[in-house]
Amino acid sequence: MKRPEPSSDLSFTGEPISAEEATEKWPLRYRSSKARVSVTLGTPKDGDIEENLEQAKRHYSQALVDGTLFSLGDDVYVKAEEGNPNYIAKIVEFFEAVDGEPYFRARWFYRPEDTVIKTLANEVQEKRVFLSNVEDDNPLNCIVSRVNIVKVPAKIVTGAEERVIPPCDFYYDMKYELAHLTFSTAADEGDASSTISSESDSNCIQIPQKKEKFLLDLYSGCGAMSTGLCMGASLSGIKLTKKWAVDINSFACDSLRLNHPETEVRNEAAEDFLKLLIEWRKLCQKFALISSTEVIESDGDSEDEEEDGDVNDDADGDSSGSEIPPEEFEVDKFLDICFGNPKGLKEASALHLKVRWKGYGPDEDTWEPYDGLRKCKEKLKEFVTTGFNTNRFPLPGDVHFVCGGPPCQGISGFNRFRNNKAPLEDEKNQQLLVYMNIIDYLKPNYVLMENVVDLLKFSKGFCARYAVARLVAMNYQTRLGMMSAGSYGVPQVRNRVFLWGAQPTEKLPPYPLPTHETLAKSLTPTEFEEIQVGYSRRNLLQLEKALTLADAISDLPPATNYEKSDERKYETKPQTNFQKYIRLSRAESIIPLDGRDASKSRILYDHQPLELNDDDLERVCHIVKKKGANFRDLPGVIVEDNKVKFDPSVERPKLKSGKFLVPDYAVSFVNGKSKKPFGRLWWDEIVHTVVTRAEPHNQIVIHPLQDRVLTVRENARIQGFPDFYKLCGPIKEKYIQVGNAVAVPVGVALGYAFGLASQGLSDNQPVIKLPFMYPQCMQGKTEEHSA
Ligand code: SAH
Repeated sequence: MKRPEPSSDLSFTGEPISAEEATEKWPLRYRSSKARVSVTLGTPKDGDIEENLEQAKRHYSQALVDGTLFSLGDDVYVKAEEGNPNYIAKIVEFFEAVDGEPYFRARWFYRPEDTVIKTLANEVQEKRVFLSNVEDDNPLNCIVSRVNIVKVPAKIVTGAEERVIPPCDFYYDMKYELAHLTFSTAADEGDASSTISSESDSNCIQIPQKKEKFLLDLYSGCGAMSTGLCMGASLSGIKLTKKWAVDINSFACDSLRLNHPETEVRNEAAEDFLKLLIEWRKLCQKFALISSTEVIESDGDSEDEEEDGDVNDDADGDSSGSEIPPEEFEVDKFLDICFGNPKGLKEASALHLKVRWKGYGPDEDTWEPYDGLRKCKEKLKEFVTTGFNTNRFPLPGDVHFVCGGPPCQGISGFNRFRNNKAPLEDEKNQQLLVYMNIIDYLKPNYVLMENVVDLLKFSKGFCARYAVARLVAMNYQTRLGMMSAGSYGVPQVRNRVFLWGAQPTEKLPPYPLPTHETLAKSLTPTEFEEIQVGYSRRNLLQLEKALTLADAISDLPPATNYEKSDERKYETKPQTNFQKYIRLSRAESIIPLDGRDASKSRILYDHQPLELNDDDLERVCHIVKKKGANFRDLPGVIVEDNKVKFDPSVERPKLKSGKFLVPDYAVSFVNGKSKKPFGRLWWDEIVHTVVTRAEPHNQIVIHPLQDRVLTVRENARIQGFPDFYKLCGPIKEKYIQVGNAVAVPVGVALGYAFGLASQGLSDNQPVIKLPFMYPQCMQGKTEEHSA
């Protein structure tokens, strides 16, 4: 802060605060007769802060500046540099320095543009500011004028209720801190620079609280993230049930259904899911299952009223698009409902119901537009009532926790057609809007959004700022963290961003600190360096050695390029702790599955590689079996200045098929600088990131000792999937599901943090230590979950 020259028209007024009281309240001000002393201000949240603290002669409780009287606790405008809006602060001290100059100490407020929200400040309510924990000393004449800031209770507004903000210049209900760029509910007055609770480690025994909470997994893929979250919550003493999941990929949905029979899996686009939820609520209101505060919009069925109760329902009406002559059919029952265009016709999307026709079997079930079915009141009522009673679809307030990462392909580093100027107009980033609209509609208690690190990098972090701004505008508390999968017990780097959201009345979950060593710090843009979980404490953490590829997969039986069976025997005993625990059967694990699948038999699923064509297989067979081997070791190429090129002195060797042994693309990839094409992994290595493709053309995916790419199961191991998690679909789809997943141990760690917070057991620290390690923690009742 720039400090203008003191002018003379200012002074403290009234009696100074007694020396006794002043030294008791501000002991660091009375340390020395020197002008300043360097002190360490230990604030538990931000770590130790060094400050060169002005020494005081005496303190006051009031001051006059340009004829205006100011008191301690007043909120004021403070002079900023030319051309900038004045700063806003709360006065927390008035004192005369040893050199006689008058000072005040300011505790600053942030405007939204001063926070991580930055350029997206217009998403947040006008007049809204955030209290900080940042304080510093300023000459008294920097005070410009008084400003009226009111503190309002933090609250999520639902339905028709209005949030009342009294007349003011600014208002606040939340604090903002730099540690993990956190917005959190401002505790009651007097919390300046103070912690609310002091326990720093939360690894104490928890009181089990088995009340069931419902989770909605959006963009669920095969469900890795939510599987981890439910396991972690269970370790904290909470029963978190994956009640609903939504994904547009039918194979991913099949996998989720297979592994989670308790989940209502919706194979549809998230945007259609939201429209369905809105329509479902109207149906629940229509049949008086929930009260409606709003006027239900007329659904045009008033003329049907007198036919109410007509059991001889028919699918007549204006069922445009229906190819079946309606008068010949009678609805037996409704089976499902969706918003969209399930008949695949070129019609506008609309609400549809799946009909079982009287006298016909499942093969004749059809989807019919709701508009043509309005007359089937009784059957509709039956269907909606059953759905309502079983919570088939969530109504606002039903969902405790929403997790999932909206895909933002528009920001991906791989995408060459990125719209930098207006990221949200890029259709590939639309899902971020859809995601936030779903949150806005359902108002869950907790939100956890996952994304790639490009979220922070693309267009100066636009999408990350947007996500935070939307949540804050909905009055959620938020906190950002970046986690590396390898830090939680798998041999993979994989950095991902996680954004917590929590209703203002809930505890905001912390981030779980790493349990395992990771590689060097990842390259986050400087402003976001703060959010790398554990980074500021890296020297204090006692970490296990990072896992290696051998730790994760050395026990798996050999497989050839042509392995046909997706169910095999293990053949060997586990060789490492990781292998021992990752092999647990579902029944032996903590996965809460309501007693279904009690089988303890252990089958090795999905241990199959993508079958390479003859040419690629021949190339792979030529790659030597040693650490670091890749296409550069093949005959016919030479390396100069770390750049590969064809050796002009020899003829290019060919494959049996007549094609070149070293293909052109391998040499031209990254201008000849890459070592990835046809790269072999080695036992002591950590995989960079498991991706969705298995081809060896531009990534290191060949098994250390076998001539094939890593199998689906090997990838799944590196992602921390328990071995009992079987995947569905063609092999390429299985790779996609595994490559898209949030590494299971990361989900477990976050689920534990959520569980503590949602039971009110976490303190206000942004990070916690985990009392367990993955995958040991997966073991069910028989063994203690100890660190
Ligand atoms: N969280 C998951 C991985 C999700 S990957 C896990 O941990 O396993 C993102 C998923 O979003 C993909 O499975 C993709 O099929 C799905 N998806 C993409 N666009 C979608 C849309 N519009 N609606 C619903 N799902 C979508």
